[in-house]
Amino acid sequence: MKKYCPYCSTEMLEHCNVFVCPRNNIGECTYDGYEVCRLHAETHNLKERHNHTFNGGEYSERN
Ligand SMILES: [Zn+2]
Repeated sequence: MKKYCPYCSTEMLEHCNVFVCPRNNIGECTYDGYEVCRLHAETHNLKERHNHTFNGGEYSERN
């Protein structure tokens, strides 16, 4: 199934399971699929780290 850029409606290219706008490469479109993916991953990592701190108590051990 084809996906189209929400900004410029150009057909997007799938790259490593991320859809990117081909016009982003040449600076004609600001839609960056990688940015969306990276933000999602960072949010996930923050949650994991938060849980780890809660369960492990790394900082209290040092003090
Ligand atoms: Zn675009």
